[in-house]
Amino acid sequence: MIVVLKNEITAAEKEFLIRFLTDKQFQIREITGETQTVLGAVGKLSIDVREVGLLPGVAEVIPISKPYKMASRQFRPQDSIVSIGAVKIGGSRISVIAGPCAVESREQIMESAWAVKEAGAVMLRGGAFKPRTSPYAFQGMGEEGLKYLKEAGEAIGLPTVSEVVSPGDVEMMSHYVDAFQIGTRNMQNFELLKAVGGAGMPVILKRGLAATIEEWLMAAEYLLSSGTGDVILCERGIRTFSTATRNTLDISAIPVVKELTHLPVIVDPSHAVGIRDKVPSMALASIAAGAHGLIIEVHPSPDKAISDGAQTLWPAQFEKLLRDIEALCPTVGREMARLPERHQQEILQAHLGKSQSPEKPGVAFQGERGANSEQAILNYFPEGDVNPVPMPTFEKLFNAVLTKETAWGMVPLENSLAGSVLENYDLLSRYPDIKIVGEIKIRIQHNLIVLPSAEETDIRKVHSHPQALAQCAQYIAKKGWRTESCFDTAGAAAMVKQEQNIAIAAIASEKAANYHGLKILASSIETNPHNYTRFAVIAHTDTPMPEKADKVSFIITLKSRPGALADCLAVLKKFNVDMTKLESRPIEGKPWSYMFYIDAKLPAAPEDFSAVAQELGDAAEDYRCLGFYRAG
Ligand code: PEP
Ligand code: MN
Repeated sequence: MIVVLKNEITAAEKEFLIRFLTDKQFQIREITGETQTVLGAVGKLSIDVREVGLLPGVAEVIPISKPYKMASRQFRPQDSIVSIGAVKIGGSRISVIAGPCAVESREQIMESAWAVKEAGAVMLRGGAFKPRTSPYAFQGMGEEGLKYLKEAGEAIGLPTVSEVVSPGDVEMMSHYVDAFQIGTRNMQNFELLKAVGGAGMPVILKRGLAATIEEWLMAAEYLLSSGTGDVILCERGIRTFSTATRNTLDISAIPVVKELTHLPVIVDPSHAVGIRDKVPSMALASIAAGAHGLIIEVHPSPDKAISDGAQTLWPAQFEKLLRDIEALCPTVGREMARLPERHQQEILQAHLGKSQSPEKPGVAFQGERGANSEQAILNYFPEGDVNPVPMPTFEKLFNAVLTKETAWGMVPLENSLAGSVLENYDLLSRYPDIKIVGEIKIRIQHNLIVLPSAEETDIRKVHSHPQALAQCAQYIAKKGWRTESCFDTAGAAAMVKQEQNIAIAAIASEKAANYHGLKILASSIETNPHNYTRFAVIAHTDTPMPEKADKVSFIITLKSRPGALADCLAVLKKFNVDMTKLESRPIEGKPWSYMFYIDAKLPAAPEDFSAVAQELGDAAEDYRCLGFYRAG
């Protein structure tokens, strides 16, 4: 059952409630949400839920109707995020796990590890115990293979996963891997599930090759009820009458499972199709269907692989696939999970162990909770690592970063339909102690949001930011509603909640609707779906520079002579620097004088840019670098 706590519950009341339930042999897990805290209670004894409902501090008791309890969405309404080392699987980010089917030698796993890391994988796979159909086929290198896998994982700084086939191996394997994999053939090996769950480590649970979704979730329940809190489901294809591919990838399982459970769901397209050239399209389809990640077989020479070579990607194919996923992500409102940049690592390290939201490093954004800037923060930073801090104005946001009240700021720079956010370009020039350390693009989707009891026929007026109203003008005109402008989209949602008037609707993000407990009547109502906003992640100049920068932004002011701009651009041409944006802005206090913002691709490492910077400094009246960072 789920016990929803009153917000004003006292510590003594909570303690009494927990003791009441544990005395009746219930296992309790406390889940703190954005607006309420609940206790998930699972037990073998039946109990009259009305008895619990009468206890002080209890707002509501909801029995869990599904046979799986801890795995069910009722148990935990928000998505679970599974941490494996520094990697977080689940939420809005896409995590890609890759590596060979099996560890074949030290050299092979080392080479595979570097290849998948270079391409952007965040976790390394490699089987050491291979459950093969034939007893004569390669069975894996066993513990020796695990040693090589661990060594490779440590060399590249990525966590590892490997399949466990026997309860007797759990203890030994726990010293080598960061997560266990339960293979398809063992999904209902209940003794194995209990032993692996009991180790308390993260587990990737493959779907049995003929398992129903309920059986799969019951297998997850075995793991969760045995001790681990971290289970990732993996769809890997099921047996059907079709023989065209190795298995049939059940893409429809992804949205179905996501509705039934809070656990992250990833897809293994390699074992699903069994044919190398069909893997990338299935991987992309899985992301579009809502998967939280992928596990993909990659080998330096798949033609020489001892097992599953035919379905294994060449490193170059894998690299292309990851680039395609990166391009797809913003369209479906997702973001590729990356290893934290150096500035993130250092700041997060300093806050390690501080789990309370206000103690986590802050990221300032302009607007109210549920603003698109807050979504950009949640997409850019690993889930749960940072604390988004709302600020009333952009100026206050910059000040918070300057005074280190927050570690970062998230500022919109331009929208694909509305153009540049000039105020932020100006603030970047006025705050020389702030630099850009990252970039992210997110798709802006507008939703029609109302009170839970309201229906479309009740609506008379729609409130939102003028830009959002303009972007949804066609939809609003068709309905004949009046409009009213307000300061921001999330503020409009807050207003609907506050007014408690069914005739008022807001246009805002899904996050804003969820935050205020409002209903989405229609989603993605914008006229043009190609609506993206590019954000800069800003920090104090003291923070370390990103390691893998491929983009630079700078400001120049010109000397007062003919051809001054051409002289500066000639420097870029000379060094083969590809400029991606040029924007002019008036200089404050100097009417009719302009400065120029330039974005460019970095030709090589940021250090190599110093010659360019030197010559630009000579050609221009003033040159200031705004930061080197990885393009979003
Ligand atoms: C594997 O991942 O190497 C594997 C054997 O997968 P599955 O259990 O899905 O066949
Ligand atoms: Mn395999």
